[in-house]
Amino acid sequence: MSAIQAAWPSGTECIAKYNFHGTAEQDLPFCKGDVLTIVAVTKITREQAERLLYPPETGLFLVRESTNYPGDYTLCVSCDGKVEHYRIMYHASKLSIDEEVYFENLMQLVEHYTSDADGLCTRLIKPKVMEGTVAAQDEFYRSGWALNMKELKLLQTIGKGEFGDVMLGDYRGNKVAVKCIKNDATAQAFLAEASVMTQLRHSNLVQLLGVIVEEKGGLYIVTEYMAKGSLVDYLRSRGRSVLGGDCLLKFSLDVCEAMEYLEGNNFVHRDLAARNVLVSEDNVAKVSDFGLTKEASSTQDTGKLPVKWTAPEALREKKFSTKSDVWSFGILLWEIYSFGRVPYPRIPLKDVVPRVEKGYKMDAPDGCPPAVYEVMKNCWHLDAATRPSFLQLREQLERIKTHELHL
Ligand code: AMP
Repeated sequence: MSAIQAAWPSGTECIAKYNFHGTAEQDLPFCKGDVLTIVAVTKITREQAERLLYPPETGLFLVRESTNYPGDYTLCVSCDGKVEHYRIMYHASKLSIDEEVYFENLMQLVEHYTSDADGLCTRLIKPKVMEGTVAAQDEFYRSGWALNMKELKLLQTIGKGEFGDVMLGDYRGNKVAVKCIKNDATAQAFLAEASVMTQLRHSNLVQLLGVIVEEKGGLYIVTEYMAKGSLVDYLRSRGRSVLGGDCLLKFSLDVCEAMEYLEGNNFVHRDLAARNVLVSEDNVAKVSDFGLTKEASSTQDTGKLPVKWTAPEALREKKFSTKSDVWSFGILLWEIYSFGRVPYPRIPLKDVVPRVEKGYKMDAPDGCPPAVYEVMKNCWHLDAATRPSFLQLREQLERIKTHELHL
């Protein structure tokens, strides 16, 4: 993975967790792993780029939005003490510097010129380390979230995440989970995830305990340890014979309470699914993976999304909101009551969206109480505004619990 530094017209920082090919003429295609750091609210100039690439180091590069050709991008490369600026033309959904070789996205372009100069003054060697990473580190120290590496023992690998291993650790005698990342570019994505986590605290959200930023670039995010692993694995491994109706409803309520809290704080999760819910030693379900969580109404670009969990308007128009989380919550309820089955069984993935857009809804899982199935279906209204809020969902689930409609 490489990091790409780009000037962006607005906002502060965005991390590409998914491939994005662009839907509008002006969209810049990027790929999973790209880190697009917004250097400034306004476009950065040629001179600013040159300052950012100082001290000179042949092969050091960044990408900025072109000042002369708005909508196009400029690749700035340091070579023999000088900075060269190459215009990246964006035309008909393709990127090109020389109008001979064309690329689908910036990542491909960078990869091409990393392996071969192909007419540039030098091949690309090193992306400019993002200023944001340094600022974020300082912020963690200032706000008291920095932990001491000397007090952390890493014990064993317990999972593989999007950006690196998850390990069981011991911090001052307490079991903790540690996400480890050694790569600079991805470290920034991790810091973004951690900085979201510092703002959120709820008994049904996996709690951040702190971060460790090593001098040599390693980064560790320390969270509470969830002994029973992901909810989807938990449901699959225990199954119907072990988990009764009470238990399924309890998990549903646990997640709903976390989501009600996020709703109240205007946070949208965007990736709610049973695989992103973890189970503690004492069987409490907690929502995890805040990598995509953004304050409500932000319009982050997204390409490949977990189609079966994502609301139609979010897939179609990138309209993520608490109401699109409600849609995903309905799918998660279906996962819970089917003991971890993959949603839309027997429907080829390519047919899911067209059928859902026409109003198709999954049947109730075997043995699912009708009252719970009604809650699911309400989450799947095509009209987002008609879907209930998490507050209403929590009330409905509690009613089901008190009236024992879940058995
Ligand atoms: P993630 O990177 O969050 O998707 O995590 C990948 C996998 O690591 C999960 O599916 C879990 O099995 C495991 N894992 C992540 N976080 C924790 C945690 N806090 N406690 C225990 N296991 C975890």
